Amino acid sequence: MSAEIYRNYINGEWVGGETFENRNPANTGDLVGLFTKGAAEQMSAAVAAAQAALAGWASLPAPARGACLFKVAEILERKVEQLAVEMTREEGKTLPESRGEVRRSINIFRYFGGEGARLPGLLTPSERERVHTFAVRRPIGVAGLVTPWNFPSAIPAWKLAPALICGNTVVLKPASAAPLSAWRIVEACHEAGIPAGVVNFLAGPGSELGRALLEAPALKAVSFTGSCEVGHRLHAEASRRRLRIQLEMGGKNPTIVLADCDLALAVENVVNGAFASTGQKCTATSRAIVEEAIYDKFLEALVARTLKLKVGNGLEPGVDIGPAVDAGQIETDLRYIEIGKAEAGPPLCGGRRLTGDGYDQGYFIEPTVFAGVTENMRIAQEEIFGPVLAVMRARNFDDAIRIANSVPFGLSASLQTTNVSRVFEYISRIEAGLLTVNLPSAGVEYQLPFGGTKDSSFGPKEQGPAALEFYSDYKTVYLRY
Ligand code: NDP
Repeated sequence: MSAEIYRNYINGEWVGGETFENRNPANTGDLVGLFTKGAAEQMSAAVAAAQAALAGWASLPAPARGACLFKVAEILERKVEQLAVEMTREEGKTLPESRGEVRRSINIFRYFGGEGARLPGLLTPSERERVHTFAVRRPIGVAGLVTPWNFPSAIPAWKLAPALICGNTVVLKPASAAPLSAWRIVEACHEAGIPAGVVNFLAGPGSELGRALLEAPALKAVSFTGSCEVGHRLHAEASRRRLRIQLEMGGKNPTIVLADCDLALAVENVVNGAFASTGQKCTATSRAIVEEAIYDKFLEALVARTLKLKVGNGLEPGVDIGPAVDAGQIETDLRYIEIGKAEAGPPLCGGRRLTGDGYDQGYFIEPTVFAGVTENMRIAQEEIFGPVLAVMRARNFDDAIRIANSVPFGLSASLQTTNVSRVFEYISRIEAGLLTVNLPSAGVEYQLPFGGTKDSSFGPKEQGPAALEFYSDYKTVYLRY
């Protein structure tokens, strides 16, 4: 059977051309599809189409834009199972994880569809008599959305939906490793009758398309999720042009485990935070910082639980951990495991690429736990983005907070405790944007602000009401009557 060809989408037309492959990381013999390799000229055409469509889309009443987003949600909902299977085939995460992510994208479209009937501005009393003051939201213009492979549906959704509801038009550039889930959302936008030019989609090489995007004269804003390296490059370029920019990048997220915690729950939360989605979440736990008094007991339970995890093809029932997304990512994971061995000694479990039956065709790696890790080690400082956990010893709560904050990143953090005073101290002292308590460090919801601090993020937060701040501007009115 020949592979399906997925074309780019520019000005309401499906545009073909040279293609590249999207392969299943659990079985590289499985060709998920062929995607059209966009080039610089197509990027210019896409931005120009978005600019031409802007006035019409922005002048639609916001509830009418909301109705379009509700339709997108409805179309996606009709094919949840198909979209989930496709996501597992292109990204590797397990089928239940993919189902959850598709559901989340649907919720995101519904949430921002509802914002169409609110789109809150400001209404305040004036200091002056017979003067009425208010501020309304206006779109900012053409937005470029550059998305990664790890949440191939939810991240495009959480950028697209708020951009559209505010009246902006967009060009979406998905990750080359997993473009199909984003393509399905764009297909749903097309089916929902969103006018030509409002949503444009261009797959293809990030460096070339990124450059063309940033050079396009009509571009007004960029929202990016991915590596720090690319994020910093985009920031430099966007600042030169005074573009509005929002960056979500890496993390080195801690879970602090205090001696008074519910131990079984803490172990579950750390295992889930570290190894779900093969550790390929920007909010994954990569450091467990454990209070001395329960360090040995916790470690023993953690390793026992980790050894029970089943690694395999995410389409198969009972699998807990799918493959790494591609050859580059598994190489990074294995390289850091070697660094970890040199720094901290052999891991307590894991550490190897899996081979043999069912594994040879994919990028499978064992969940890996290093103990006795200290702050200055590279495996305690640098993002790995794989199933590799560094366990660190803290003398007490204060020491744990100090260790947790001793990295350049500040995306998510988790605390395991039953002491409510510690909880409030942690909320005030931890340097991160997304905090959890007695939950894994990952697992966020669409109706709240998302994003970090320090080197993890830049610009206004994503999701929830905060997303509107990035994708809109205020027009302030002083009116004397
Ligand atoms: P990248 O930052 O390279 O990719 C993210 C997106 O940016 C992709 O769409 C990519 O396109 C695009 N891109 C690449 N280069 C440019 C450029 N010069 N200008 C504009 N866009 C560009 O991340 P990787 O996928 O290579 O992953 C590398 C590491 O990044 C991971 O190991 C992890 O540490 C981190 N990461 C963090 C994520 C997060 O959620 N915070 C998500 C993914 C990765 P293309 O795919 O075509 O290269």
